[in-house]
Amino acid sequence: MSTLEIRDLHVSVDTKEGPKPILRGVDLTIASGEVHAIMGPNGSGKSTLAYSIAGHPKYQVTSGTVTLDGEDVLAMSVDERARAGLFLAMQYPVEVPGVSVSNFLRTAKTAIDGEAPALRHWVKDVKGAMERLRMDDSFAERSVNEGFSGGEKKRHEILQMELLKPKFAVLDETDSGLDVDALRIVSEGVNRVHGATDAGILLITHYTRILRYIKPDFVHVFVDGKVAEEGGSELADRLEEEGYDRYLSGSVESA
Ligand code: ADP
Ligand code: MG
Ligand code: MG
Repeated sequence: MSTLEIRDLHVSVDTKEGPKPILRGVDLTIASGEVHAIMGPNGSGKSTLAYSIAGHPKYQVTSGTVTLDGEDVLAMSVDERARAGLFLAMQYPVEVPGVSVSNFLRTAKTAIDGEAPALRHWVKDVKGAMERLRMDDSFAERSVNEGFSGGEKKRHEILQMELLKPKFAVLDETDSGLDVDALRIVSEGVNRVHGATDAGILLITHYTRILRYIKPDFVHVFVDGKVAEEGGSELADRLEEEGYDRYLSGSVESA
């Protein structure tokens, strides 16, 4: 049983005009086996939270803490975060020409486990995971992210998660750009990993659509760089009907 804890997190992003405060005191605790959805309007800072947990250099933590079982995540390098059991899809390179999916996965697995996986099991694991995600065998020989469609990128993300077996996975907009079939396959993948490994999942999304397939235990509504409201999955149902308008009325008036 593990816990990922975010306490009073303040983050600024580097812009040409200097640092711009985005996160304004985020509190969030995720335990193993829990699925948390972060929902919120565009520009509310959801991706900033994901990048901050991932250790992206453009995002400066100005105060607050992120800990994994008491260990200071913010003091860890990106690699150390992965080895500690954090899976953040965006921590991996956007495009790696010349590196096949198959080699990439094996390198990542070796780095995280500290030893190369036994080849016979590994080949079987990769094949099985790809079949479950309805990915063609030939996908393993393609260069990472080179010419990947939106749907292929998302499946590749879930494939990594399935093989790397993280303690916590942060999935940012995993649903964007997916048609209904792909959305179902990707959602099933997330549910399968969650069920099989008891990973804690932080699912970041603007839309309620994916939450018909992945049932969150907790929903956090993100507005203006912090959590404005929290609840169970019924809160997602309400957002589906009402949208984010009522959280934004203040800024509309002042606009
Ligand atoms: P969300 O994911 O909820 O749509 P983001 O975290 O992407 O929100 O963005 C939050 C705010 O931070 C937005 O106002 C956005 O314009 C600003 N922002 C994020 N990243 C950068 C950046 N690299 N440079 C300038 N502004 C940024
Ligand atoms: Mg659960
Ligand atoms: Mg975003």
